[in-house]
Amino acid sequence: MGCTPSINQSGVVRCQESDRSSSDTNPNNHQMNWLEGSFRRMVSSDEAVESGGSTGNSLQIVSCSKSGIVQSDQNTSWMYRERDLKRTSNTLKFGPMCLTLPTIKVLLVFDKEDSQCKALKLAVEKLQYDYVVVTSDTQALDRIRNSHYHLVIVDTRHPSGFDPFLLARSFRLSKDNHYSCFVAVVKRSLAEKEDSLIFKILNAGFDRWFLESCSLTLCLSELILIEGNEIMTRLKLHATQALFTALENSCDAVLVTGKNQEIQYMNQASEKLMGCSAEEMMGKNASQLHRSDSTRTEIVENVNIKKGNDWEGSGFRKRKTAQHTPMWNKVTPVDVHNGANEHTVLVREGRSSSFYSEKSYIPDCDFLPYTLTNMKSIRNPSFDVRSLCSEAGMNRRQSLARLHTMTIEAPITKVINMLLATQENSPNFVAKDIDKILEILRTSDLYSPQLLGLNQHRRPTDDKLTSDLISSLVMQGQKSGQRRFSHDINQKVSRSSIVSSLASIPSLDSAPRPIVSALEKSMEWSFDIFELERISEKRALTWLGMTVFSSFNACSVLSCDEKTLKSWLTLIEANYYNNPYHNSTHAADVMQATAFFLQKPRLKTIFDPLDEVISLIAAVVHDVNHPGKNSAFLCNTKDELAILYNDLSVLESYHAARAFKLTLSDKNVNILQNLDRDMYQVVRESIIDMVLATEMTKHFEHLSKFVNVLKTIVPNEEAEDDKQLENCQEVLITMSSPENVKLVKRMLIKCADISNAARPTKLCVEWATRITEEYCRQTDEEKAKALPVVMPTFDRTTMSLPKAQLGFIDYFINDMFSSWDAFGDFPELIDHIQSNYQYWKEQDDERQEQEASKEES
Ligand code: AMP
Ligand code: ZN
Repeated sequence: MGCTPSINQSGVVRCQESDRSSSDTNPNNHQMNWLEGSFRRMVSSDEAVESGGSTGNSLQIVSCSKSGIVQSDQNTSWMYRERDLKRTSNTLKFGPMCLTLPTIKVLLVFDKEDSQCKALKLAVEKLQYDYVVVTSDTQALDRIRNSHYHLVIVDTRHPSGFDPFLLARSFRLSKDNHYSCFVAVVKRSLAEKEDSLIFKILNAGFDRWFLESCSLTLCLSELILIEGNEIMTRLKLHATQALFTALENSCDAVLVTGKNQEIQYMNQASEKLMGCSAEEMMGKNASQLHRSDSTRTEIVENVNIKKGNDWEGSGFRKRKTAQHTPMWNKVTPVDVHNGANEHTVLVREGRSSSFYSEKSYIPDCDFLPYTLTNMKSIRNPSFDVRSLCSEAGMNRRQSLARLHTMTIEAPITKVINMLLATQENSPNFVAKDIDKILEILRTSDLYSPQLLGLNQHRRPTDDKLTSDLISSLVMQGQKSGQRRFSHDINQKVSRSSIVSSLASIPSLDSAPRPIVSALEKSMEWSFDIFELERISEKRALTWLGMTVFSSFNACSVLSCDEKTLKSWLTLIEANYYNNPYHNSTHAADVMQATAFFLQKPRLKTIFDPLDEVISLIAAVVHDVNHPGKNSAFLCNTKDELAILYNDLSVLESYHAARAFKLTLSDKNVNILQNLDRDMYQVVRESIIDMVLATEMTKHFEHLSKFVNVLKTIVPNEEAEDDKQLENCQEVLITMSSPENVKLVKRMLIKCADISNAARPTKLCVEWATRITEEYCRQTDEEKAKALPVVMPTFDRTTMSLPKAQLGFIDYFINDMFSSWDAFGDFPELIDHIQSNYQYWKEQDDERQEQEASKEES
């Protein structure tokens, strides 16, 4: 013994180096030496143990911190606090988890308590572990079964009472021992002799060996190393069990992928959502779960290349059945090195109420990818989602994608989404009932205009012009107690004037040359209605009507003669007033758009010839006798029409009523006279329904219904070819049901009615100018007569035509035409919408520049 043990009252152990006179102060060197057992520890006499180390080095302990680094002072004497042998903290950080460190439990299996056993016992006590010494294998197994030991040390040197290797195997078989560390105490001489001994030890189930040594230093260092490495690692591993259990029970679908996006883990919720088992999906590429290339690129860019950003957005759950349902997704990279991450975690949000109430209604990543950092701006109402879409460019593929991402903010949409999600996890009989419920919800009149929803989710609140436009179109108007304004909306057209107009119409065969040549293009989308208006002296409706109706064999479908049809067209045309916008040319334009739509294969298949003729008639009459003022104006002025129709769908009800009144007024004009009672009823109901559908206050209601039905059946852009075909059939079958034909007819007339925004720019600008003029006249009158101004956007003193049109496209046109294109394939309309949007944007920029330079000067 090279040093005198001394311990003072305060528990400071003074040690001095015995065999070395090193003044090396490098803690690492000390540590190495210490680990080699080259230091002696000065211990109090009752702690003294004999040195059993083969090096023969005397013991000299130094203190050890939990990290195992030996601390020393500068001198040859060493001062260590005993408590340094204890842990400095009772917690263990494991990622974001904070684990409470338990008291380490040790089982010592020695068939006799020799000096080795005592040295280990002493070290264990010093470290304040709980320990038990057992002397037989049965006791050991019993202990192991009943309690969890962090460390099990088995003497393999010369046990006579049990076979330590057999015991180790038995330990390993016991399922509760996954997180225990098994250490074999091995004869040093044997270890030095037998190369393969370590394999024998490991094969038996031990985790490591300890070469016999009664050196307390060595025992301590070994235990500290085991605690720091083996036990701590096992504690962390043990904690992962809790994390996995949490993941397995989470209602959010969680996927973990590796470097190459291969699926490494998939929890139960994921299996349910994807409709496949984790086993099937293991190792497969997770990118196939994202519906579109744009989403994939976006995720890769954010998550990988840009080094570790989260990506969050709405994506799609793609089931084996190729169905897609919008889901809230979050992709988080884990352990990013040099732009690549070891893992990514994908969370698809489960069925929490917040998901349905809020997140699922944020536009999809396919169009609007965003990272966590710009989430705020998405929720910021001034973020102009629609205009991004308009600028981004759309083709039919995008229209399809957009259709699937389209979420019209009606409560019914949320209800339908929730039911769909519930259906996923329901037994068959419940799923069938939910199907019925969905059917009812999709087709019955349960909707109401979502003005609040619209305002909150779509409209930039700071864009006054746009908001005024939207509210004036979708609201019934202010109903203040204004005095009645009597205006001349009831200009009646006398029978004699009809007869006289009838006389003036030549037949198509003898039509003037310019008219014939204009009508040659009557089924083209770029048809110039203003040219026909000019050359026919505002008789476009009759001329075009005759042409279009004859190409749909209207006379034979209705069993009426051409003369009656011509007279009817003339009468209806005569009942359109000479308003800037709502005149017979608008009716002719809507009819032309309707005819164009009707030629498309999908509509041709769904509609029968009577449906086609009904649609054309509805288009012709849909604004008849329009007073050039909107319904809100009529309500505010307590107009007799507003009184008659109780302020509800005033104009549309009036147009429909006038259409029948005029048609039935004389058998010379009654194109419906040869229909039998039932047929007449069907035709009447359908025309009325279509005309009423043109009411803009019901815009989102009709669009939601259509989108909800279409979403479930229209193939998305990634479906395989045979799936596409299959789905086409499915679309046709589903859309051909009477309820859905009704929805399609409503969309048809609505799209035709506001198709001016999807026409070639020259025509679009003319229509926009006309509607603006009509609305400004209304505002002029409201101001002059101190009436409420229902459309302040259309005040000619402050008016911005480009801004109003940009708002109109953003809020009414984009979604509607995307879904219409997804259904019927109208790529040129989408192209025109884009160029028109661009045109209005340029106009707006120019205007702003002019205003800025005016202000400067
Ligand atoms: P209708 O009155 O049946 O023609 O319904 C369509 C409504 O959409 C019109 O009354 C206008 O309020 C509105 N509308 C159509 N085209 C435009 C446009 N280019 N700009 C603004 N509003 C429009
Ligand atoms: Zn109209």
